Amino acid sequence: MSATSRRAVDVLVIGAGPSGSISAAIMQQHGLKVEIVEKTLFPRFVIGESLLPRCMEALDEAGMLEAVKAAGFQQKNGAKFVSGDKLCDFNFDQQFTKGWSWTWQVKRADFDKILADVCVSKGIPLHYETEVINVEMAEDGSSITTVREKDGTCSEIEAKFIVDGSGYGRVLPTLFNLNKPSTQYTRTALFSHIKDPNRAEATEPDRIIIIVHNPTTWIWVIPFSDGTTSVGYVGSQEFFDGFSGTTTEKLFAMLQAEPSLAKRFRNPELVWPEPKQLKGWSSGTTSFFGKGFVLTGNVTEFLDPVFSSGVTLAAVSAQLAAHLVVRQLRGEQVNWQEEYSDELQTGVDVFRTFVDTWYDGTLFKIIFSEGQHDDMLNQICSVLAGYVWDKSNPFVKNSDKTVRTLARFLDHRQKENDEAIKAEA
Ligand SMILES: Cc1cc2nc3c(=O)[nH]c(=O)nc-3n(C[C@H](O)[C@H](O)[C@H](O)COP(=O)(O)OP(=O)(O)OC[C@H]3O[C@@H](n4cnc5c(N)ncnc54)[C@H](O)[C@@H]3O)c2cc1C
Repeated sequence: MSATSRRAVDVLVIGAGPSGSISAAIMQQHGLKVEIVEKTLFPRFVIGESLLPRCMEALDEAGMLEAVKAAGFQQKNGAKFVSGDKLCDFNFDQQFTKGWSWTWQVKRADFDKILADVCVSKGIPLHYETEVINVEMAEDGSSITTVREKDGTCSEIEAKFIVDGSGYGRVLPTLFNLNKPSTQYTRTALFSHIKDPNRAEATEPDRIIIIVHNPTTWIWVIPFSDGTTSVGYVGSQEFFDGFSGTTTEKLFAMLQAEPSLAKRFRNPELVWPEPKQLKGWSSGTTSFFGKGFVLTGNVTEFLDPVFSSGVTLAAVSAQLAAHLVVRQLRGEQVNWQEEYSDELQTGVDVFRTFVDTWYDGTLFKIIFSEGQHDDMLNQICSVLAGYVWDKSNPFVKNSDKTVRTLARFLDHRQKENDEAIKAEA
């Protein structure tokens, strides 16, 4: 279909998720003419409900914090990890890195709409139900993007630069052949929002809980301020195949199979007609930037949801990218490899260590072991708060080595204790 009109902007932002909205707002604050195109109509569902404190800095800079505060989302002050009768509770106000000590648990449909509305209130044109279908890049990095509206009308947008925040849409990696298979194992999630009238029976009922259901399956429990709670199981396909019936019947059976949830969700009532299922969300990209464009948020690399890193990495990458685009369009030299890719990758790699050592069991040994030093727990807490660029934290600077060495030390200490007990007996 041929385009019926053409308009020109400084920067075209693809997608109005957190990475798109935050980058657009910051660039516009610095005087750039920005436009956002979003494929769906907001509010729309997307998963990713537990935020990390580090994303507050990005929301603040983008001028969005007050609008989000006004929405009355559930405050999140830490995270509790549970494995059988073992418990590890992190409070962000005890973290090693100086920074935000709280954030929110949000329904993303509402949260993302608030961020998008802030962009509109700042005067940024945001076109819903407008999908990017093609991008022609010129030698100098300028581009002509073809977008298609809901009624099929196509138009063209000339831009000096493109920020791709299209999340699971992966627009530019797909058009420019930048997709790279993830090294993460393919996992499945089954989840729903559930009415939670028995919440008060739980200790600290509003706290996010991450439950180790079995060594390869974990559960998120994310309470919202409206009395509903998001509950999701993440594991191998074989785990889910072990339950029969509809997805609703499966989820109900799974809730009854988890001792720490069976009572709280004894007569579960789903908010949705049926639970949602996702599979194989991990993705990689051969490059986070190219001449005339940068990728932000999930389009760069998404590993795994276990440490709630997605929205925070989306927010931080958006913040970082926005400043570099502003500098570049002012005519300054930008080293995208060092100042963007390498910088972002530092944080992604810290989460990669935590994800890998969570699934291979190493991290369990650390967080569920008794007699841990507070200093170390506080350093781990900073990673869980999203402060994964603070190189004074050993769990950031040498994350893989630090985690594995500590786990070996704890193993050794446990063996010594066991032997001492045996000898005494
Ligand atoms: C099971 C699971 C649980 C998760 N839990 C958490 C969690 O607790 N906390 C957390 O922080 N993260 C979590 N995540 C990750 C989270 O979903 C993402 O990291 C986050 O949504 C990324 O934000 P974004 O702005 O990059 O993209 P998105 O939020 O996906 O936004 C991208 C937008 O781009 C639009 N778009 C796509 N294609 C086009 C196109 N062609 N043209 C125009 N627009 C387009 C989409 O419609 C969408 O609105 C989870 C992920 C999974 C799979």
